[in-house]
Amino acid sequence: MNYLVVGSGLFGSVFAYEAAKRGHHVTVIEKRGHVGGNIYTKEIEGIQVHMYGAHIFHTQSKEIWDYVNQFAEFNNYVNSPIANFNGEIYNLPFNMNTFNKLWGVITPEQAKAKIEEQKSELNLSGPPKNLEEQAESLVGFDVYQKLIKGYTEKQWGESALKLPAFIIRRLPVRFTYDNNYFNDRYQGIPMGGYTQIIEQLLASDLIDVKLNVDFFDGRDSYLNDPNTKVIFTGMIDQFFDYKLGDLSYRSLRFETEVRDVDNFQGNAVVNYTDAQTPYTRIIEHKHFEFGKGNKNKTVITREFPQDFHRGDEPYYPVNNQQNKQLYAQYVNLARQTCPNVLFGGRLGLYRYYNMDQTIMAALELVKREFE
Ligand code: FAD
Ligand code: UDP
Repeated sequence: MNYLVVGSGLFGSVFAYEAAKRGHHVTVIEKRGHVGGNIYTKEIEGIQVHMYGAHIFHTQSKEIWDYVNQFAEFNNYVNSPIANFNGEIYNLPFNMNTFNKLWGVITPEQAKAKIEEQKSELNLSGPPKNLEEQAESLVGFDVYQKLIKGYTEKQWGESALKLPAFIIRRLPVRFTYDNNYFNDRYQGIPMGGYTQIIEQLLASDLIDVKLNVDFFDGRDSYLNDPNTKVIFTGMIDQFFDYKLGDLSYRSLRFETEVRDVDNFQGNAVVNYTDAQTPYTRIIEHKHFEFGKGNKNKTVITREFPQDFHRGDEPYYPVNNQQNKQLYAQYVNLARQTCPNVLFGGRLGLYRYYNMDQTIMAALELVKREFE
């Protein structure tokens, strides 16, 4: 069997690698001018620039960590973003350093008491119905107002009252003085960037990569080839020509600039959590590799959330109830009408997957397909 993989992101590339390892011919088509999807990194001034937003690899799974370490050596970077709320600086994720700066509390007991006091004033009852209630019940009113509400409403373009609670549960809340953004056992940044991982995944002679090719320009010919199975990692609603309706996505605009200073902000990630600043975060890329690169220059990227319209880049699926139902209908349609197409990745599966989950999902598909 031959495979046509649509999209050279992490999902498509892991699948292509595993298929080629088993002797199958794979053609990968990619509509962008480079491989790697959103994990693509490019060297500027000796610095690995994350061209589609900060990407920190983190996982609980030893299997996935070992897998990805076959293709790059990872450094010991630990993500500890800073929040800037109108010039006030706080540590993230929400931990004793944050609570101490906000309230002057010293012990975990004092911090918990403060949060309980704020919760009791808010009259919260029953399980949280939306992101605002979830956030307030986890960390109280002050943290919500200064560090969550502005950032979240910019990021999602929606009132926190209308957003699902699970989005905020991605972040740890800790009653220790620990600024590590993730709880996972393994974490780091590939030395030399992410693109090398994708290039190695796609290096086999059995894999043919075609850049600047959009699946939809040759859709019928691809689908009518009886000897080829399609792995589709683009948008599932677009695949079906939006027949059942449009799924919602959130888009982003990245503004990257080179500055003539050694150190612009002193940290890789600074979140702007107020409502007025139009961007959500500034990334200073050299800090992901502990200052590697040109000593007199630095590269920074501002991340501006955007509404999504057809044709824009769909960076985030919006996994609310309505979209989940619509996605389930597309899955049914896929089962009924195109058994030779397998959907994968953040867009094909319409899931807010981190990189480790993306690799895991690709390896699961490999198992189903080949074992
Ligand atoms: P993608 O990377 O989106 O790849 C899909 C590819 O398919 C793209 O290259 C696209 O151009 C191509 N394509 C789509 N349609 C077509 C078509 N019609 N024809 C041809 N090609 C097509 N994860 C982490 O673990 N840690 C992080 O810190 C982290 N930060 C993130 C920050 C941002 C801003 C974003 C958006 C995501 C972040 N992620 C992070 C998630 C991570 O990017 C994903 O898990 C991973 O990149 C998903 O890979 P994928 O192959 O599913 O999708
Ligand atoms: N978030 C927030 N304040 C912050 C950082 C994150 O309120 O300073 C919220 C926001 O709603 C965001 C969610 O937490 O969408 C998840 O954050 P994460 O950093 O995991 O977002 P991602 O890297 O996926 O964009």
